[in-house]
This record gives sequence, C-alpha cells and structure tokens, in this order.
Amino acid sequence: MFDTLDQVIDRIGEGKRFLVIGHIRPDGDDISSVASLVMILRKAGKTAEGCIADAGSPFLERLDRNGIIKDVDALHDYAYDTAITVDASELVRIGDAAELLEGRPPDITLDHHKSNLGFGKINVCDPAYAATAMIVYELGERLVDFDPDLAEMLLLGIATDTGFFRYASVDERVFAYAARLVREGANMGRITEAVLEHRTLNEIRLTTAMLDTLRLSADGRLATAYVTAEMIEGAGCTDDDTSGLIGEIRSIAGVEVAIMFIESSEGSVHVSLRSKQTVDVSEIALQFNGGGHARAAGCSCAGGKLGNLMKEVTAVAQNAIGAAFATRS
Ligand code: AMP
Ligand code: MN
Ligand code: MN
Repeated sequence: MFDTLDQVIDRIGEGKRFLVIGHIRPDGDDISSVASLVMILRKAGKTAEGCIADAGSPFLERLDRNGIIKDVDALHDYAYDTAITVDASELVRIGDAAELLEGRPPDITLDHHKSNLGFGKINVCDPAYAATAMIVYELGERLVDFDPDLAEMLLLGIATDTGFFRYASVDERVFAYAARLVREGANMGRITEAVLEHRTLNEIRLTTAMLDTLRLSADGRLATAYVTAEMIEGAGCTDDDTSGLIGEIRSIAGVEVAIMFIESSEGSVHVSLRSKQTVDVSEIALQFNGGGHARAAGCSCAGGKLGNLMKEVTAVAQNAIGAAFATRS
C-alpha cells in the first residue's frame, strides 16, 4: 500500500520548487524533519521553503536556529510544484498550512505513524522508523553530503522522538544513524540543552499545579492528570509550555498508561497518551478521532467539556488496561 524511497527520489528529481509542511503543536521530530528536508533540497540545487502552522512557538524558534521554518502567512505567495508533508499522520494535522495546498493532496508524504493511511500521491510511512527524521536522513544520504548543521538538525528528530534514546523504539539503526550524524559534526549536548534544559520557573509552577490533579487507577497502572486554561494562565504559561507535563506522570513506577488533558485558551482539549510496554494507546486515541504511535498518541476535541472527556477517555483506557493485563495473567 505504501510507496518506496526510490519513488520519492524520482519525484524529487522532477520537482524544482518545493514546499515542506510539518504538523501543528510542533515537536522535535517535526521541526527536524521540515528543516532538514528543506536544507537537503536546497543543497541539491532546488528551491525549497518549510512551513509549520504555529507562529511564535518559542520551542520552534529555539530549535530552528537558522530560521528556516515559516508561518502560513509568509508563504501564501510562494509558487511551488511539489508539496511534501512530514511527520503528519493525516491532513488535519498540518492545521492552517492546508490552505497552501488549495485542496490538492500533497505530492509526497513522509511519516512513521501507525495510524497513517496515506493521504498524498506518493506515501512513505513506516512505523519501524523511530522518527520521521530517519526517513529524511535516508533521502539526504542519497541526495547530498551531510554537513554539521544538517547533521545536527537530523539528530534533533531522532533524539527527541526516542525520548533521548530511552524508548522501546530505539533499535540498532537509531544508534547507527546517530553515530554517523555525530561523526558529521552534530553536537548532542546542544540538542539536549535546547530541548531539556529550557524549563522556566512558570513551567515548574504549572507542573506543581498539575500534580495536584494526578489520579492513579487500574491498580496503579493508569495515571491521569489535567491542566485547565485557567491553570495555564495562572502559572504565567502558554499552551506551548504544556508538552513536558505528560513525561512527569509517565515516569511513575508501575504506571503503564499516562494520560494528560490540556485545555487550550480557545476551549478545545488536547489529550496526550503514553504507554510503556503493553497497551497500544494509538487505539485509544483513534476512538476519539486522534492517532499516533503505540507508545505515544494524542487526540484533540474542539469545544469538548473537560470533565466529560476525561471520564470517557479514562473509561476506555481502563478497559484497554484491563484487557491487556487479563490476557497476560
Ligand atoms: P502529543 O501527545 O501531542 O505529544 O502527541 C503524541 C503523538 O500522537 C504524536 O506522535 C502525534 O503525532 C500524535 N497525535 C497527537 N495529537 C493528535 C491528533 N489530534 N490526531 C492524530 N494524532 C495525534
Ligand atoms: Mn511529531
Ligand atoms: Mn515523529
């Protein structure tokens, strides 16, 4: 059902002007995949622009050190012949950047989400890759020489989507690609500092407030917690400061599934789901029109009441945990 990198290379050969689009609520793999692919295409002599529909995300600005990624508004007049989405499991994940496609499917999609059904003309999606940046790496390897800037941008995606080489998705290939990128000049310490060591006092205050909402259930295997828009504002934070919260509750001993409910200032609720070994949380997210990976998934509910949604998602997760552990014992 999915296509091959050979087909992608052929299609890139036909294009001259490229638009590379990532997903909203950008994470490290998203930023890495967009920026690296733009760098690779430019190095290969093409014209290329990158877009993530999330203007003013401090995380994005910090990691896109060379200012490669632009907002939708800056690209309305950009004429391209090839659109590529990266790290997006479905079209809605690119948010307002869809305007730039003007109703056409992307020419190429590159992704690693289990829930992706393929929404472009040429689709490469393989959950065996720990990060979309690894697919971009393989394209880069075939098209250009790596340099220190490109190597570090590629390593960012591999490092962040593997939880800095901690998750079960870490295989030999992850280390092999990371080793090559370090050899090409990537600085792992700079990535770690930019991603992990930039917490503000306000974020820590929000974490404290969040911990007051923490509940364990399903014999300690399920951890749930939430932050309301009021809590986020009260701590002096923005929605951008909430992505680290889920990791705090995932790390609790005995917890298999962690779920964080985040109410945005516009009233929608984002649900982040994580698991450690057994439960496929993408299946839970799918039931609420979301998606993702077996160990990290999410869904967003516009205008959903936080309390009701928490009850519903928690019940589905408790059933999933019950089923997973009943079959094991
Ligand atoms: P997050 O919890 O936002 O960090 O997302 C975890 C994973 O779930 C990521 O790999 C996302 O691509 C995926 N994901 C998050 N939100 C959604 C959504 N609304 N629809 C589909 N997939 C999502
Ligand atoms: Mn991502
Ligand atoms: Mn990813």
